Amino acid sequence: MRVRHLYIHVPFCARRCSYCDFSIAVRANTPVDEYTAALRSELDGLRARLDSSTLDTVYLGGGTPSRLGGLGIANVLGSVREHAFVANDAEVTIEANPDDVDDVAVAHWVDAQVNRVSLGAQSFDDGALKWMHRTHDASQIGIAVDTLRRGGISNISLDLIFALPDHLNRSWKTDLDRALALNPSHVSLYGLTVEAQTPIARWADRGATVQGSEEEYEEEFLTAHSMMTDAGFEHYEVSNFARPGFGSRHNSAYWSGAPYAGVGPSAHSFDGTARRWNVSAYSEWIRRLQRHESVLAGEEFLTNENRDAEEVYLGMRTRRGLRIAEDQLETVRQWVDAGWAVIDDPLAKPHLRLTPTGWLRLDSLAADLAARRAGFVSATLGPTPSHCYI
Ligand code: SF4
Repeated sequence: MRVRHLYIHVPFCARRCSYCDFSIAVRANTPVDEYTAALRSELDGLRARLDSSTLDTVYLGGGTPSRLGGLGIANVLGSVREHAFVANDAEVTIEANPDDVDDVAVAHWVDAQVNRVSLGAQSFDDGALKWMHRTHDASQIGIAVDTLRRGGISNISLDLIFALPDHLNRSWKTDLDRALALNPSHVSLYGLTVEAQTPIARWADRGATVQGSEEEYEEEFLTAHSMMTDAGFEHYEVSNFARPGFGSRHNSAYWSGAPYAGVGPSAHSFDGTARRWNVSAYSEWIRRLQRHESVLAGEEFLTNENRDAEEVYLGMRTRRGLRIAEDQLETVRQWVDAGWAVIDDPLAKPHLRLTPTGWLRLDSLAADLAARRAGFVSATLGPTPSHCYI
């Protein structure tokens, strides 16, 4: 199957943020040449699939892709272009931390046709940023946005984290105001969750409060919905807001179930039938590529039931919603009565969309609907808010 979407995992970070359990490689000095040589070798192995492909989106995520610097990113994208045709109007995104953005790097990124930057802002409160172990302060976020625009990249997304613990005294509304003042085209929100093996998990084990309460989580999520939509953004996916026409094309491909290829440690691929993933440790990924061995760590073939459950989950997490069958209307009407969903065109082609309060219950509602479509009703379902999706 032809590949139209390519994800490249760049695992490097200067240090681990307190909440992060991603597959990263903490390095004071980024081994740019070693990484780009290994990536080229992995792309060589995909040549048969990529040769006939026109890429509509390329996304460098991490980790912190901007740790590769200007030339490193340019070399990675140069390798991609040696292996596949990148459409002239392709969306080419890199994730960047504010402290890696300077005029020289941006000039290289623009030359390499990067046209979208997802900036890890997380908060505009210096105390919160320090608690998160971020490598930048609040002032560097605005400077990075100015530098990107001056260099020619205007499609800028900001990441923000909500549901921080009370003792940080971070004002969520102020953070949203400051993000909006920078006039981004896109904002992604992440509700803080405590993942195993992270610094905040260890702090929690010692009795510290490391996240906001359930009520604060819900309140901040709904506050973000109000403030962002009042400012003209579309809440087009449970945790993403965009100015009209600026939704992430790459992530939208994932949410529509489109095939994609992934390269780099821990990267996942999907060919329409099976999902495959790479070894996650950078050292193992390098070792295998240097020995010309496969970097595949596992694969999973989707059953019809898997596909149906995914279709339900992906449809319900986006504003696009989901067609529902006649025999599911009864269930869904209860959600409408509770304010969790709306049904468009209820008589002819009923189509379900979750409201923001419904999105706070996405996992349990999607599991409920998927179970009913599969012909059974799960005993574990309920209206409990569930947050692991954000
Ligand atoms: S910069 Fe991103 S990937 Fe790196 S440690 Fe922080 S949150 Fe994780």
